Amino acid sequence: MRKVIAQRAPGWFHTRTLHQAWYMRRTAVSFVLLFFVMTASARAQAAPDWNALSDETLHTLSDYIKVNTTDPPGNELDAARFLKAILDKEGIEAQILDTAELGHNRANLYARLKGNGSKKAVALVHHMDVVPVAPAFWSVDPFAGVVKDGYVWGRGTLDMKGQGIMHLMAMIALKRSGVPLNRDIVFIGNSDEEFGGDGAVVFVKNHADLLKDVEFLMTEGGENLVVNGKLEYYGVGVSEKQTAWQRIVVTGVPSHGSRPTKQNPVPRLVAALDRIAKYETPLHVLPDVQKFLHDISPQYKGEQRVWLSDVRSAIRIPRARKWLTDNIYWNAILRNTISLTGLQGSNKTNVIPAEASAVMDIRLLWDTDPQTFINTLKRIANDTAVHWVNQIEPKSKLQNPIDTDLFRAIEKASHDRNPNVIVTTPMFTAATDRPTYRKLGIVTYGFDPFLVENEEMHSGMHGNNERLAVSNVGFGLKYLYDVLRYVQ
Ligand SMILES: [Zn+2]
Repeated sequence: MRKVIAQRAPGWFHTRTLHQAWYMRRTAVSFVLLFFVMTASARAQAAPDWNALSDETLHTLSDYIKVNTTDPPGNELDAARFLKAILDKEGIEAQILDTAELGHNRANLYARLKGNGSKKAVALVHHMDVVPVAPAFWSVDPFAGVVKDGYVWGRGTLDMKGQGIMHLMAMIALKRSGVPLNRDIVFIGNSDEEFGGDGAVVFVKNHADLLKDVEFLMTEGGENLVVNGKLEYYGVGVSEKQTAWQRIVVTGVPSHGSRPTKQNPVPRLVAALDRIAKYETPLHVLPDVQKFLHDISPQYKGEQRVWLSDVRSAIRIPRARKWLTDNIYWNAILRNTISLTGLQGSNKTNVIPAEASAVMDIRLLWDTDPQTFINTLKRIANDTAVHWVNQIEPKSKLQNPIDTDLFRAIEKASHDRNPNVIVTTPMFTAATDRPTYRKLGIVTYGFDPFLVENEEMHSGMHGNNERLAVSNVGFGLKYLYDVLRYVQ
């Protein structure tokens, strides 16, 4: 391009006045300058070499899997050091934080890629810890970062070191490619999400200053649904259920099992549990659930489509109600749920124990007050000898608006890839660190950068042979990169 202008310019000058010649030359010089500016900015914004970058990302993920952060005990300081070394090399300032508060070999990690500050920041948050493994049930070493058969294998590939590395490498790709940033990109690695959630709690408590300019946050809790290889929807997580685990205890008088007594706590506990097990919580359609089921209704036919398009009306029809609640996911987003999961009585057949207890996993819709719900259960159990104990501090409710620049950026990046697939907002039935950040007013979405077959997602996450397709690494990296570009 530069060569063409230089050759043509002298020919023009001979036939024109001096003034014209001067003007033309100035124009030509301007063109040359403009060309240089354009080349320079093109160079500064060179699109990443996606093949090379996907390869690099795959190897970085494999190495991250090798940092064993099984929680307990966590050892997330090792993970924080691993990530900081990569960030240091890229010239992105990173800090290892909260080591004193979090205890031995634990830490949070914080980094920030600076933009021009004209808009508020976007934070990418993942937890660095993983749940324990039962190696006997794995076909590979869960902490070797094995890459074979088109997958990277290991604990954390799905939950959630895979996403963490997407966060890291998308941020690095933005820096390397020189995309102008109106928003800073904040990168956070938290410890202890899988056990107590202390990492995020301590981070928010100690470092509200680092988060004060953050408008948006993305972490786990999104669910893109893939069934039999077909992508049904892109799911952005805007709400989640509240966890209200309970332990219930009946005390009695210990004695020999050969002489039954009325002070045996076991039958009393069992009777109360039976009443709780038979209790059907009412169906309750939240606006976001109504919208989600309406969004997916075109994927169904006949009366099922009609029912999904207006679930509030459908739940009054017995057949529709049964069909809806037979789906264990829909059932869980349409009501408060109770799973009785643990029982303890005597450890000897011939001993009446001093105490019998049970635990239950209670998950509440975001508009339910936990104490009101527990009071209802106490009435259902109908026995003052049953004592109720909160197993965890309830987190605050999680609900987010969808009329935001980030939601639109996710929609655009999703539709770039699959123009005919809807982007919707399935409620998350389990718990994440999101409520801890949402409390600060930050719009906090669950964003899933991968397309993983539903069955594989549920068997691998917290299960055995957790793995992520190599193709998903390239997909997730570019998908998140585009979201971050579009939200600028
Ligand atoms: Zn997780």
